Amino acid sequence: MSLELKIEQVIDVLAQAAREYAPVVFANSLGAEDMVLTDLIAKHQPDIAIFSLDTGRLPQETYDLMQEVRRYYAIPLAVYFPDRKLTEDYVAQHGINGFYDSVEQRKGCCFVRKVEPLRRALNGKGAWITGMRRDQAVTRGTLELSSFDADNGLQKFNPLLEWSNKDVWAYIRQHDVPYNKLHDQFYPSLGCAPCTRSVTPGEDIRAGRWWWEDPANKECGLHVTHKPQVAHGTGVQPAPLHGRIIGIAAQAGTKQEVAA
Ligand code: SF4
Repeated sequence: MSLELKIEQVIDVLAQAAREYAPVVFANSLGAEDMVLTDLIAKHQPDIAIFSLDTGRLPQETYDLMQEVRRYYAIPLAVYFPDRKLTEDYVAQHGINGFYDSVEQRKGCCFVRKVEPLRRALNGKGAWITGMRRDQAVTRGTLELSSFDADNGLQKFNPLLEWSNKDVWAYIRQHDVPYNKLHDQFYPSLGCAPCTRSVTPGEDIRAGRWWWEDPANKECGLHVTHKPQVAHGTGVQPAPLHGRIIGIAAQAGTKQEVAA
């Protein structure tokens, strides 16, 4: 399928989401895929609101891109921050870099800095859009174009599902889309600075994310699906979580992780 046809299909999916599930939001991680969607939403579906999560640990290049997006596009980029109390409690309990010590502590940090703010950003919305592609990771093989996100209680769309990495970069070059300059330094997949490294030619594009962990664990908890037996509703609110950060993350780890 040509890139032009793939672009038309994405525009159609965005329009369908906005028509059937308003209000709709797009979670912009500021990676290459998400800059393609930012460009398409700004040009074709500006009623889809765009937000990013500032974990407090992002690389400078990502902050630079946030500012560039603000200058370049007419639609606003909302930024959500971690809950102050949860963050302070995590650091007091595990240390500022406690995420290196175990998968559970890493997921606890991702919960505080990503998952909880995401839930606030999605609260009251009818659907959300992500830039996930099927061939990005072993954890994304079962991804669907559109499905109900039971964890967050709304519909979820992945309009770039069948795009290749080559398609993404062809679009960025052809449409002069701003992108994260770390991509020019062998960072194909971007995240927080202490948890992301560059990759060498031939390595998996996600090899630089949480490189010290097993690939099967390489998700931050933003994109998970319950196994039926654990569909117990983790409607998470900041206050009751005090002192239970790792417990909640470990519970999230019992879910079937399908994407990130
Ligand atoms: S990617 Fe690393 S620093 Fe960022 S939230 Fe997850 S564990 Fe914390």
